Amino acid sequence: MAAFGSRAADPVRFVEKDWMNERFIAGVQAAVPPGLITEAGSSMLTSKGPLHWCSSEQGTRWALTMNGAVESGDRIAANIIELIK
Ligand SMILES: Cc1cc2nc3c(=O)[nH]c(=O)nc-3n(C[C@H](O)[C@H](O)[C@H](O)COP(=O)(O)OP(=O)(O)OC[C@H]3O[C@@H](n4cnc5c(N)ncnc54)[C@H](O)[C@@H]3O)c2cc1C
Repeated sequence: MAAFGSRAADPVRFVEKDWMNERFIAGVQAAVPPGLITEAGSSMLTSKGPLHWCSSEQGTRWALTMNGAVESGDRIAANIIELIK
């Protein structure tokens, strides 16, 4: 209410969902098995020739979240722009 005003007290619609019950999602965050970041983390951050990896998993801060995905996208796009200058 403080942020959005009195109209926020009268929502048009409310949706609640238990993502754990979604057969193909079964949770919230992306799943990375134990040991993967330790074993392969550095190669996930390194481009391979013309291939540049970019995703939430490559986020150097807040990996596996939207913030990580956006940070990764910004960083990889800047790298590619530098390469093709
Ligand atoms: C239920 C749920 C709730 C979440 N809640 C939050 C939250 O509250 N806050 C938060 O920060 N994060 C949340 N996350 C995590 C966040 O959504 C992800 O970390 C983020 O969306 C990943 O972004 P991405 O760009 O790496 O991958 P994605 O968003 O998965 O994008 C990958 C894209 O590639 C496309 N694609 C795949 N294969 C191919 C192909 N062969 N060719 C072409 N396109 C292809 C897919 O269709 C998709 O559009 C949640 C995730 C889930 C599943």
